[in-house]
Amino acid sequence: MFHLVCMDCGRTCGDMTAANCPHDGGVLDVRYHSAEIPLQPQLPGIWRYAARLPLTDEKHIVSLGEGDTPLMPSSQLGPDISLPQLYFKNEGLNPTGSYKDRIASVGISYLRQLGRRAWAATSSGNAGASLAAYGARAAVDGYLFTLERAPRAKIAQILSYGPQVMSVKRLGYDPAAEKATWANIAALCAANDWLMLITARSNSPHAMEGAKTIAYEICEQLYDQAPDVVYVPVGGGGLLSAIWKGFKEWRKAGYIDRLPRMVAVQPLGCDPITQAWAAGRPIEPLDDCKSALSGIILTSPPDGDLVIQDLRESDGWALSIPDEAAYRAQSELASREGLFVEPAAAVVWAAIKADRQSGRLRGDEKIVGILTGIGFKDSAAIQRMTDDKPLPMIEADEILHVNPR
Ligand SMILES: [Zn+2]
Repeated sequence: MFHLVCMDCGRTCGDMTAANCPHDGGVLDVRYHSAEIPLQPQLPGIWRYAARLPLTDEKHIVSLGEGDTPLMPSSQLGPDISLPQLYFKNEGLNPTGSYKDRIASVGISYLRQLGRRAWAATSSGNAGASLAAYGARAAVDGYLFTLERAPRAKIAQILSYGPQVMSVKRLGYDPAAEKATWANIAALCAANDWLMLITARSNSPHAMEGAKTIAYEICEQLYDQAPDVVYVPVGGGGLLSAIWKGFKEWRKAGYIDRLPRMVAVQPLGCDPITQAWAAGRPIEPLDDCKSALSGIILTSPPDGDLVIQDLRESDGWALSIPDEAAYRAQSELASREGLFVEPAAAVVWAAIKADRQSGRLRGDEKIVGILTGIGFKDSAAIQRMTDDKPLPMIEADEILHVNPR
């Protein structure tokens, strides 16, 4: 069983289906009546943690086998910079190719529990694909409002699952368009009794519980040892905040005895959270976005202030990575680790390198980088990564003349 507590005023919310605190609009935290985390291995995907997810009846579970993604020890990149205990959590191996499946699984299951007929959301691609897939699985309708510059490959994946997709002008780089989109989706949902599923804790507290299972899994995969530092790509901020919550819950359950430091990694061309962190002030929305790292470019991050709070609480930090460094990191993860991720995920490796170089990371630390999405998601980035690779056309006879490199 769970209840909702406002993170601003501390009041318990009487309405278990509320998206925000009815008193002050604050972010609602889902809390559970027991600190224990009993595992239910008979349930699919992330639902083995069902006791810590806000669903009251298992019959509503919608799963495509999300979660249980591998925690890969780095084979070359870590040792190269004397970080022998570097791990990558490969979230690209979720059913639609990103960690958002964890959120969609909880969100769509919760939607079924509420008896709603449709979901509506805004997304640059990954969350949209997840909601569309889980919505298709649950036979509910979906309405997705996407960014003007969302990558075509991501949109194509979403369209294949069958929801209605509309591209909103200026969404993604104009704060006014962003604000209007959110308000209007909320109004549309209220009018039609649909569920608004935005992958932010400040908007969909129930669904976002799915993302914390990443922390649970990391602790289990490290045999109940917490990592020292966890690097998370940050756009809206909900992922980092959910993972931090997961670590705290795992410790409260008594499985680990300390907590990691959390690191928020943003794109340099669109980094309102890093800027606020560095200046020691609340988040201020940006007027423009100069980064092309689809998935983590939000001018006004909905969970930004939560991230600042979490970084402080965990003794962590924020840093920003130029797009070019992200592309280089993407190529290195593919060619040196066999990990094919999207540029928005690769920022964590770029950040780890930068922090190692500046002396912020010690060689004896256990470090985890969250690789949020798979490389197929961004076809333009694949093109960029492989454009300079030769692909000669040869005769079969010429195979014998190939020289070893
Ligand atoms: Zn409140």
